[in-house]
Amino acid sequence: MSTVPARKRIALVAHDAKKTELLEWATSHQTALGHHALFATGTTGRLLADALGLTVTRFLSGPVGGDLQIGAAIAEGKIDLLIFFWDPLAAQPHDPDVKALLRMAVVWNIPVANNRATADYLMTSPFITSEYPK
Ligand code: PGA
Repeated sequence: MSTVPARKRIALVAHDAKKTELLEWATSHQTALGHHALFATGTTGRLLADALGLTVTRFLSGPVGGDLQIGAAIAEGKIDLLIFFWDPLAAQPHDPDVKALLRMAVVWNIPVANNRATADYLMTSPFITSEYPK
């Protein structure tokens, strides 16, 4: 068993049609997100950093490997929580990468939010501000 620290390493990803929604959500949790270390795929990360004024460590853009990089970071124990607003209404050219990322999150027992309601629940969980025995 390992212990996830109070300060979480949060990865954020949004497909193009979901970027506005993620930015709105992140802005509504701006203060809380500021207590954690933020990571994101390339474009999502740039938009988040601009909107929040917070440091966001950026991977490659999703379609050229960013989703896989985040999946690998999860496997290496470097990500504690995933906020991934994927687009349910459009086929993605990098769908295999999307599946791989979601699979890694389940394999490594990482909390995942794929929509705004779940993301709200996660950010208001007692575990977001305390250690979590995993
Ligand atoms: P992006 O990647 O943040 O670089 O747009 C997201 C994705 O499509 O997976």
